Amino acid sequence: PPVIEFRQVGLTYPGPPPVEAFRPGDLVVRKGEFITVVGPSGSGKSTFLNIAGLLDTPTTGSFLLDGIDTGRLKDTQRTTLRGRRIGFVFQAFHLLPHRSARENVELAMVYGDVPRRERPERAREALARVRLGHRTDALPTRMSGGERQRVAIARALAARPSLLLCDEPTGNLDSGNAEAVLQLLETLNAEGITVVLITHDLAVAARGRRTITIRDGTMSENEQVAAC
Ligand code: ADP
Ligand code: ADP
Repeated sequence: PPVIEFRQVGLTYPGPPPVEAFRPGDLVVRKGEFITVVGPSGSGKSTFLNIAGLLDTPTTGSFLLDGIDTGRLKDTQRTTLRGRRIGFVFQAFHLLPHRSARENVELAMVYGDVPRRERPERAREALARVRLGHRTDALPTRMSGGERQRVAIARALAARPSLLLCDEPTGNLDSGNAEAVLQLLETLNAEGITVVLITHDLAVAARGRRTITIRDGTMSENEQVAAC
């Protein structure tokens, strides 16, 4: 089955007044794809990511993750599924500043179902994957923005998710570090992980093999994105 399948998924915040943040639409993202989602501020990009990440529940339609109809799940089942299948990467790195890179990655696993004794090895493996194997004991306060984001990506990878959801992952980085992070995401994608990357930067959006544009809560594909 596809990793993400939206069947007329929509989300209206009840208000008052009600806000139709994401208008009903279909979308299929298959395993191994790298898609970018672009649109102006307030267009519904975060709402899309929150639905795909099981943080928000659609008010209409069905969202299937890896073939599982998420509308039928209890809250605890949604949380478990999110922890096992999805890694999140945000613009702000959300690292604990006084914990080492390794501890930041290990601590995130407290909420998943990785057995305690496996966590140090998982953390080492994830940090090696983002080419920070030599910096496992470094504190985030002593790292560059690019290194911090790579720690955050390692944290997202520790549970071995099938899907990486990235919300403006290069938004706080200079162009050199942004490029390094994009290349890392491309490498991870080539290794088999499905990547969905949200951005308002058209140059970043162009890195996707598919680009979805969201405007006023409506998704469209393969159109000119220059108007954003
Ligand atoms: P983007 O990420 O593209 O900036 P959002 O998904 O955050 O857009 O927002 C889409 C629309 O939904 C906006 O009009 C925003 O004001 C509205 N919105 C977002 N969250 C809420 C909420 N909790 N309640 C009501 N409206 C919301
Ligand atoms: P933005 O990308 O707009 O700067 P944030 O990165 O701060 O926003 O967070 C976006 C949303 O994701 C927020 O609702 C926040 O509560 C939630 N969030 C932040 N970190 C995590 C996480 N590690 N796991 C799950 N949800 C998170």
